[in-house]
Amino acid sequence: MLFSKLLLPTLKDAPQEAEVISHKLMLRAGMVRKVASGIYTWLPMGLKVLRKIENIVREEMDASGAQEVLMPMVQPKELWDETNRWEKMGPELLRIQDRHKRDFCLGPTHEEVITDLIRNNVKSYKELPLNIYQIQTKFRDEVRPRYGVMRGREFLMKDSYSFNIDEACLEETYLTMRNTYKKVLERMNLDYKIVSADSGAIGGDASEEFHVLAETGEDTIAVSDSSEYAINTELLLKDGEDISSLEGKPSPDGKGTIEIKKGIEVGHIFQLGKVYAEDMKANVLNNEGKASTLYMGCYGIGVSRLVAAAIEQNNDDKGIVWPHSIAPFDINIIAIGFEKDQKIAEASYNLYKELIEMGYDVLLDDRKDGFGTKIKDSELIGIPMNIIIGKQFLETEEIEFRTRSGDTSLSKISDSQTILDFFKDK
Ligand code: ATP
Ligand code: MG
Repeated sequence: MLFSKLLLPTLKDAPQEAEVISHKLMLRAGMVRKVASGIYTWLPMGLKVLRKIENIVREEMDASGAQEVLMPMVQPKELWDETNRWEKMGPELLRIQDRHKRDFCLGPTHEEVITDLIRNNVKSYKELPLNIYQIQTKFRDEVRPRYGVMRGREFLMKDSYSFNIDEACLEETYLTMRNTYKKVLERMNLDYKIVSADSGAIGGDASEEFHVLAETGEDTIAVSDSSEYAINTELLLKDGEDISSLEGKPSPDGKGTIEIKKGIEVGHIFQLGKVYAEDMKANVLNNEGKASTLYMGCYGIGVSRLVAAAIEQNNDDKGIVWPHSIAPFDINIIAIGFEKDQKIAEASYNLYKELIEMGYDVLLDDRKDGFGTKIKDSELIGIPMNIIIGKQFLETEEIEFRTRSGDTSLSKISDSQTILDFFKDK
């Protein structure tokens, strides 16, 4: 992509409305713009990151054996009546009417639609287990949308639903999803915890949340400093415990002491059991030929929230420091004097084409601006590697490599080894 052609309205200062660093940087780096409260347009730079995360999620879901579908955003009231959730859900459920005065809602989640699909199309235990997912826009009329896309009203979620013949099988698909979520967050290089959680409005028996650790996190979690033990304090408050007494106490699992941390919930996995299947009469024939109620699991990842969470954990005073796997571009070629010097223009453009052929996602900063402006923009948008072609190149044919973390080195333009080495482990 040529910088001069890119819709990338960077800002020097963050607008007043932005409170947390990810929101400030997403606005400053020209990734999103607000349309209404909790509703955003994704600009090219933001969309590239969103798509990279979406692809990581899709690859890991496919590898786990799950199958992708796309359900409608608009859902009829009748399905929600079957589970009584039309009644139970408060104003978070955005209800609309069509021209015939029929009631619909904008999907905040899809248990009803998917259960309807499965009960009508799956007849035998032999077709199970099934794990069906989609990556789709959700709408929740949040009482307090805030922190940009972190708590939006319209947001992108990967939601999946597993259907199993019995509890043991449900536990197995649940564990597969748990591992899949771990792989997703590890590929994004995020520091996270798996936390025991409350099942909330979705219902069901057991659930765990995936939290990206960050001071701006809305959730307070109690974690052991030397084991996997971690619990959302929401759950403890519900049981009447006293959080403050936990700090520095031995962990309930007998390993290490408790620390209180802040987390951003980026994923939530549930063993629903039979709740939805019973309400909606979702059965299959078991191995004795008898109707047997399905055991369900449901699993959500906040794809758009992950963009913000990744920034909360990866930034400095200059801007975003993207984990490589989700950076909008791998490399930015900063050409100084592109418009004035034929030799620089040619060398930059050739390198740009060569790197694209090698499989990198490359930006070429061909604008008329000087080095200061260009490197500032590159650091703000967080590109992992800069290649500077300028005066040095005219003198010695050397180009400068400058990583986002500030390491620099010189090499001949014909030597692509520096780039290969840099991306070797990424
Ligand atoms: P929260 O407690 O943050 O409201 P939730 O428990 O309502 O989340 P789930 O119903 O489990 O969320 O949805 C699955 C995932 O979708 C969450 O883990 C989160 O990453 C994401 N998500 C939920 N609500 C929002 C929102 N308003 N904006 C962005 N992402 C969201
Ligand atoms: Mg919620």
